[in-house]
Amino acid sequence: MSNISGKIALVTGGSRGIGASIVEHLVKEGADVAFTYLSSPDRATALVDQLQSHGVRVKAYQSNASDHTQCKDLIAQVIQDFGKIDILVNNAGITRDNLLVRMTEEQWDDVMAINLKSVFNMTKQVMRPMMKAKSGSIINMSSVIGEMGNAGQSSYAASKAGVIGFTKSIAKEIGSRNIRCNAIAPGFVETDMTSYLQEGEGAEKYKAGIPLQRFASAADIANTALFLASEMGNYITGQVISVCG
Ligand code: NAP
Repeated sequence: MSNISGKIALVTGGSRGIGASIVEHLVKEGADVAFTYLSSPDRATALVDQLQSHGVRVKAYQSNASDHTQCKDLIAQVIQDFGKIDILVNNAGITRDNLLVRMTEEQWDDVMAINLKSVFNMTKQVMRPMMKAKSGSIINMSSVIGEMGNAGQSSYAASKAGVIGFTKSIAKEIGSRNIRCNAIAPGFVETDMTSYLQEGEGAEKYKAGIPLQRFASAADIANTALFLASEMGNYITGQVISVCG
């Protein structure tokens, strides 16, 4: 239904959580998928094995999304292996939450490098091949925190707000080449990133404030990524889609 059969997708941070679900959804809709991981080779290999039966190519690459040279080499390698890249999902991300008075420079820098510089690194490298192909869909993972702010998450919020500004600017730069660039802003998603917050009184209170009264699953976010990646999202660019229940 989504018309992505035969497309080539590259997903950063595909070994776990939202990224792994995006990989799975793309594969099940018939796309060939390359994905990256940093510190979970076993989970990356398990995901590749799990998806082997779908009759498409799935390959995992160890690559640090915050490292410009590694991203450049990665894109060249994926194009060599798969021939092209139609869909880029900039999903890799971390938190190093702390109140600003206690936040270290290293915590700030790590979050900026992995959540924001990574999006620059990857997008810059796929732009030329996508421009040559006169087609492409780039999906950047932001967060509702980037729009609302949150005490203890100033670095995370700033990085995710940066992703939104980047997304809107790039959409304007490359729209004339038929390349779309959108962001997804998830609310609270049940993954390793939020595992320490998923239970207890605080979690129930938080849930009560969500109209749909539940946290998101990774699949809720993956379905939105699939929509934006596919022809169903063909006239959508420069947008931030909130997926927050
Ligand atoms: P997660 O479960 O912690 O998974 C993070 C993924 O990013 C892993 O695959 C990890 O690889 C990869 N990664 C981390 N640093 C990397 C680096 N330097 N280079 C390459 N890959 C790297 O996180 P998640 O909850 O799925 O979050 C995915 C994205 O959604 C993030 O951008 C996050 O900010 C955003 N988001 C999450 C939520 C939420 O509630 N969970 C809400 C809004 C937005 P390894 O497995 O190899 O470490």
